[in-house]
Amino acid sequence: MAIRMIREENEPILRKISKPVKEITPKITELIEDMLDTMYEANGVGLAAPQVGMLKRIVVIDIGEGPVILINPEIVETRGEQTGNEGCLSVPGKMGVVTRPNYAKVNAVDITGQNITVEGEELMARALCHEIDHLDGILYTDKVEGELMDVETDEEE
Ligand code: ZN
Repeated sequence: MAIRMIREENEPILRKISKPVKEITPKITELIEDMLDTMYEANGVGLAAPQVGMLKRIVVIDIGEGPVILINPEIVETRGEQTGNEGCLSVPGKMGVVTRPNYAKVNAVDITGQNITVEGEELMARALCHEIDHLDGILYTDKVEGELMDVETDEEE
């Protein structure tokens, strides 16, 4: 178990396109475990590999219902719309209003290499879209409506 350093907004790596994972090697498994540790330590609900400096298409999410690990995730369906506050561990102390789909369905591979489908509404849909955006170098601050606001809590994505 290890906590990795979370990269912040101004770091160029957050703007790069992550590469698909070809094989789930012990190194990839270790990265995923470290990503979970890092996310929980920071009280986040999601973390993408580029946020810890690795340009791999891996996302971890836990909205309070247990960890979800997504390797090579692809959004295959979205529906509806939600507008609400969003934050990011790479943009500490800030939040802003972002409109996202209210439902998202994602195909991915899990840590054992099995194909999985994950779907979610509301917070889960928001987290899926936010984290998968990271794999394409997109930050929520690109999509924010109005100004970023200061936050006092640790509730960030
Ligand atoms: Zn983020």
